[in-house]
Amino acid sequence: MDCIFCKIVSGEIPAKLLKETDHSISFLDAFPLAKGHVLVIPKNHHQKIQDLNENENSDLFSLVHTMISKVDSISGSTLLAVHNGKDAGQEVSHVHVHLVPRSADDSAGAIHSMFDGTLKLSDSEIEEMYNKLKI
Ligand code: AMP
Ligand code: ZN
Repeated sequence: MDCIFCKIVSGEIPAKLLKETDHSISFLDAFPLAKGHVLVIPKNHHQKIQDLNENENSDLFSLVHTMISKVDSISGSTLLAVHNGKDAGQEVSHVHVHLVPRSADDSAGAIHSMFDGTLKLSDSEIEEMYNKLKI
């Protein structure tokens, strides 16, 4: 499979590896959006979070938890992001969690600034989503 992150896991292409656990690794993003932009990925190739098994999932988010205090020490505020699917902006189809140090004067805003803010849901649409998503 032609996956750049699988090649980082296998050592076929280099990366600035920060930490390795049983099922995950963490390394510097090669095209950082901010100083200290870190990625955390599972070693096995899965496209989406829900494709991870329980061990992989807990190992991945445990490593996110380990790395967040390091990354957060850079600016004191950090964006955590997962693009879970192509239409959500996922360019590399191997699960990855972004840890991006933020600052008040960077060019990114709040999550609502990613959307045009015009969506209005009717009560029945809200009810429909509620019924669809509740477990
Ligand atoms: P996404 O757009 O959410 O799929 O994020 C993919 C991320 O992978 C981007 O932030 C890229 O800068 C990063 N990236 C791409 N190639 C490499 C690489 N060889 N080593 C480290 N990070 C990479
Ligand atoms: Zn992969």
